[in-house]
Amino acid sequence: MSRFDSIVVDGHVVFPGYGPVRCDLGITDGKIAAITDRIASADAAEVVDAKGLLVAPGSVDCHTHLGIYRPLAPDARSETASSLAGGVTTLLSYFRSGQHYMNKTGSYKTIYPEVLALTKGNSYVDYGYHIAPMDSSQVKEIEWLVSEGVTTLKYFMFYKGLNLSASSTDGKALTMSDSYDLGHLYSIMEETQRVSQQYGEGSRIAVSVHCEDDELIRWFIDKVKREGLQGLEAYSKARPPLSERVSIHKAAAVAAATKVGLNLLHLSSADALAAALEVKNLYPDADIRLEVTLHHLGLTYQQLEGKGLGGKVNPPLRTPQDTAALWEGVRKGQVDWIGSDHACTMSSLKGDELWAAACGFGGTGLMYPFMISEGYHKRGIPLSRIVELVSTNPARAHSCYPRKGHIAIGADADLALIDLDLTKKVTAGALHSHQDHSPFEGVELKGWPVRTLLRGQTAFAGDTIVGEPRGLYIKRPV
Ligand SMILES: [Zn+2]
Repeated sequence: MSRFDSIVVDGHVVFPGYGPVRCDLGITDGKIAAITDRIASADAAEVVDAKGLLVAPGSVDCHTHLGIYRPLAPDARSETASSLAGGVTTLLSYFRSGQHYMNKTGSYKTIYPEVLALTKGNSYVDYGYHIAPMDSSQVKEIEWLVSEGVTTLKYFMFYKGLNLSASSTDGKALTMSDSYDLGHLYSIMEETQRVSQQYGEGSRIAVSVHCEDDELIRWFIDKVKREGLQGLEAYSKARPPLSERVSIHKAAAVAAATKVGLNLLHLSSADALAAALEVKNLYPDADIRLEVTLHHLGLTYQQLEGKGLGGKVNPPLRTPQDTAALWEGVRKGQVDWIGSDHACTMSSLKGDELWAAACGFGGTGLMYPFMISEGYHKRGIPLSRIVELVSTNPARAHSCYPRKGHIAIGADADLALIDLDLTKKVTAGALHSHQDHSPFEGVELKGWPVRTLLRGQTAFAGDTIVGEPRGLYIKRPV
């Protein structure tokens, strides 16, 4: 009998903090069982040749939206296939009751088991969910949600007051709440903090916040509409960086007061990053972590001018000055992790009317290719740091570590085998997503996964998805 189920040989393995190092990996029962100089082929039932390849821990894409615009089961199936193409092996997806997603409201004790049942058997990668408590009765379910493996709760600053606005009827449909305000955020954070005390050190239970200020946005949208501006530049001006700044300060003040972990999601602008660094200084004892997305690093509204509304997203795409500032934050270690904010949004939902167009687009299939190309090749960010940004740090922050997020004895053998020299232009088709367009279309990237292993088994090779979906639910904290 072989010593290992499989071995990955002759590759250069990159670990969080150091590497790449030339070594072989032994895998047994889906876990890393040996990291050593040489393992003989005779010791394994299957040999994976990684000669000339980088062997990185599978990415943990902790910001995605499965099932937001399409039925959850097929969306999970197509979009997690895209994850594999990007070297992603763990996906954490946001879910809330109300309009979009399953168009349901009520108790998560009823809805969440339905969410899990629809995802089961349809995910090509291991998965978990973040949940947004939309009203006070759902806040009371936080303790139960955490016991079911949901260690991150979500709040949307820009939904605040939507119900109260006479001119807006869609607010109620989105939140299905009567009092979606700062008081509601306080109650979520207070309850999250209380529940988190029942869990040990290393079990981080936190609140993720989408920071854009509702009142400022409403005023700026009216202004931009009055001026008759169109296109993605108008959209950025309608939801300006100032709205992120104000919102970040409010969310951080409440998080510091309630002593709860805070994730500041998708910082899009120089000003948002500056505000996030300010609140970390203001509240040095608070656990505040910073997320930036691929598209806020890689795309600007200028770049997509005249190319339709595929790049409409919240917060909006900004300017080259903003992308430069965000890269500087990544380079200096100020940004904790990179997410894709993947939301499969068909071009039929975009149309050509700015305000009616759906928000969001896919990106999970670009996690490693984009970060290796733009971070490592173009900007000299070390591979070990790239691994921290797309795998280790999100795993730690979302209580998936040490099972996910690194290559170590006992960890799941989730691996991305990457050809650092492979150059390809992004096309919608090559991303294996159902989405029929990509704002990254035509961008040339260098450094693509050529094989992705989920718990020791090849799930993507060459340019093909291998086998059936075998992703498992990750009950966090692991
Ligand atoms: Zn999102």
